[in-house]
Amino acid sequence: MLIVLKPNVSKEEIDHIVDKIRSLKLEPHVSTGVQRTIITVIGDEDIIREQPLEAIAGVESVKTILKPFKLVSSETQPDRSVIRVNGIEIGGKNIVIIAGPCSVEGEREVVEHAQMVKESGGHIFRAGAFKPRTSPYSFQGFGVQGLKFLAKAKAETGLPIVTEVMDPRDVGVVAEHVDILQIGTRNMQNFNLLKEVGRIDKPVLLKRGMSATVNEFLMSAEYILSQGNRKVVLCPRGIRTFEDITRNTLDAGVVPVIKGLSHLPVLCDPSHAMGLKDYVPAAAYAFIAAGADGVMVEAHPRPEDAHSDGQQTIDAKTLVAMIDRIRKIARALDRDLP
Ligand code: PEP
Ligand code: MN
Repeated sequence: MLIVLKPNVSKEEIDHIVDKIRSLKLEPHVSTGVQRTIITVIGDEDIIREQPLEAIAGVESVKTILKPFKLVSSETQPDRSVIRVNGIEIGGKNIVIIAGPCSVEGEREVVEHAQMVKESGGHIFRAGAFKPRTSPYSFQGFGVQGLKFLAKAKAETGLPIVTEVMDPRDVGVVAEHVDILQIGTRNMQNFNLLKEVGRIDKPVLLKRGMSATVNEFLMSAEYILSQGNRKVVLCPRGIRTFEDITRNTLDAGVVPVIKGLSHLPVLCDPSHAMGLKDYVPAAAYAFIAAGADGVMVEAHPRPEDAHSDGQQTIDAKTLVAMIDRIRKIARALDRDLP
């Protein structure tokens, strides 16, 4: 249920409404927008339906939320969410570029890779310390040691860092070392992991499950927000279909769909969507043209030496050219890429 407050509502009136909802053993989530403050009430709607809420000072109207996802829904928060990481805004006017290798490859290597991303014009560095590999015999990542290498890459370049967390027990240590925690496609419905990242105060990049519907994707984001963490970025990254000529099928069409349904920023991954380096820039342009707030691409100074996903990894020259073209597309869409 949504309680829409009057434009001139006072802090005391908001506190009173929040106390009233809590006294009914329901959970209030206050969203303060530019125009309006809205309180989303989570819990058994029958309890609240009996209450004459419109009679309380400061309340303008009371509405039922029709969507199964409530905190994620644009009904709850009409203004778009902007998530700030070290001065970079995800979901604002500017397009954000995240780039880096699939995996952390060593201390010296990760610093070199972050420098390459910085020099190419990327805003955030990516590299996996914990790697979810299809085969147990493939390289599994450097783990906690890799997190320390990532912290060094940030100290040397100033770029904020995103890395994947696979296990709820690692959320604390990953959050200590990096700026954004990634939940991978295979873990989109690992509900214990979603709840754990919901309890921290760091942004989460939530990848779409490779076989997940948009509703399932948004319900997974709802898990994180329901625990208190509202800093979620949605990441379409291709889905599995009958088509096998590319690693996945580019799901650019979901970008406007998700942006219509939710206030959360959308930052897409064309590398895992296509699976082959030659197609990555075109897929990035499609995502941006569809309204994405940014892209995350796998990039490496020597893709042939990459420890994982080398076939879909672009080199520095391609990254520079891709960013330049994305800037042109951004400007055509009244956005920018600094
Ligand atoms: C990755 O970003 O390296 C990754 C493993 O992504 P996904 O979970 O989308 O496969
Ligand atoms: Mn990868």
